[in-house]
Amino acid sequence: MHLFFESKRFFGVVSLLLFSLIPWLTYQGHQAILLDFSEQRFHLFSMTFWPQDLVLVSWIFVIAAFLLFFVTTVVGRVWCGFMCPQTVYTFVFIWLEEKIEGSRNKRIHLDQQDWSLAKVFQKLIKHGAWLSVSVFTALTFVGYFVPIQSLFINFFNANIGFWPLFWVLLFTFCTYANAGWMREIMCTHMCPYSRFQSAMFDNDTKTVTYDHQRGEGRGPRSKKLSRKEVAAKGMGDCIDCNLCVQVCPTGIDIRNGLQYECINCGACVDACNNVMDNMNYSRGLISFTSVAALAGQQAKLLRPKVLGYFFVTVVILIVMVFQYNARKELDLNVVRDRTSLYRESNLGMVENTYTLVLMNKSQSTIPVTIQVHDLVYQTLSGDTHLTLAPGELLHHPVSISVNPATLQQAVTPFYFTLTRDNTEEPTKQKATFIYR
Ligand code: SF4
Ligand code: SF4
Repeated sequence: MHLFFESKRFFGVVSLLLFSLIPWLTYQGHQAILLDFSEQRFHLFSMTFWPQDLVLVSWIFVIAAFLLFFVTTVVGRVWCGFMCPQTVYTFVFIWLEEKIEGSRNKRIHLDQQDWSLAKVFQKLIKHGAWLSVSVFTALTFVGYFVPIQSLFINFFNANIGFWPLFWVLLFTFCTYANAGWMREIMCTHMCPYSRFQSAMFDNDTKTVTYDHQRGEGRGPRSKKLSRKEVAAKGMGDCIDCNLCVQVCPTGIDIRNGLQYECINCGACVDACNNVMDNMNYSRGLISFTSVAALAGQQAKLLRPKVLGYFFVTVVILIVMVFQYNARKELDLNVVRDRTSLYRESNLGMVENTYTLVLMNKSQSTIPVTIQVHDLVYQTLSGDTHLTLAPGELLHHPVSISVNPATLQQAVTPFYFTLTRDNTEEPTKQKATFIYR
């Protein structure tokens, strides 16, 4: 059984399904996950993040990064080998290529043939299939940023706007070029992760490893030779068939030790296990193990680096949850009228004008009341009872008139508050009343 190949196929299918279906999920009538740049909002089920919540959103990415460090320290580059989009799409494109043009040998033979109608037809079908997958992928990806239902409808009705079309075409090109042509060149030459992954590795990190002690000296031998005879010739279990190198998508020889190009896909493990079965040797000359295990030491899971990454991830998660819960659904900003500092009315009152910027960050309608605190005022003009729609940003002008006899200084600080009609601490915002 090709354990790594089967696992790769399984995780590839799961990640493709997740990627394709998630943007179609709806929550209370809207797209459940949507990074809406045009509206400057990030919807995540019942939560909506605004530009003011940038820190909270960055925590999500920091947590994802630390989780990746944690997983890499424990089980090496499994992300690269099984779930990275580059790996998954390369796998899909190779699968399509095999279905349309046949096995590797048949493909080489087809490429060497002169151009004929049959060859053109086969090539057209292959590139058509690749392009179809690329367009679907690009539409799905852009659907995380633009409402996906209207995106698909507008795209297929040729009614799509300039920028969505631009991004769909760009990501179509990227998918087609990366998975169809670049393939592992991306991993070996362009992916920054491969460059710093070794910083996370230690002797207990599980990774695809060749058992030097068992394998060397390598060399071809008759299957009929007993193990004793093989040992007497100074040979180990590697028959030097080179299959592990041939199947390696990045073209490296794992027998030369850990290399940054290795994406931990396990293709060499499956190939070598087949050879071992054929030779009646035990499997595992190349296996998914750690340097410590190969040296016969007990594998340690709980080690300082692993605990460190885990601890930092948990702490950031707690901070994020705490910050999210402390976040108010109502936001209030006060902008002073810039055209005049104050006005004096015929009745001898002093008037200051403000624009209140009210924001409802929640996904429900909220009735609010505007109040003034720490200022003895005569009138507060403008509506003080308002209803804010979900996600509404409202610019609301108000003016306050004060009897100058009650003012003891030229600039009097006070507060506007925004109170939800039912509950909780009001949202406060500092302001100043100016006279002379
Ligand atoms: S596949 Fe196994 S036996 Fe063949 S060369 Fe690689 S390590 Fe040696
Ligand atoms: S050496 Fe090559 S085939 Fe083996 S796991 Fe690494 S990338 Fe895959």
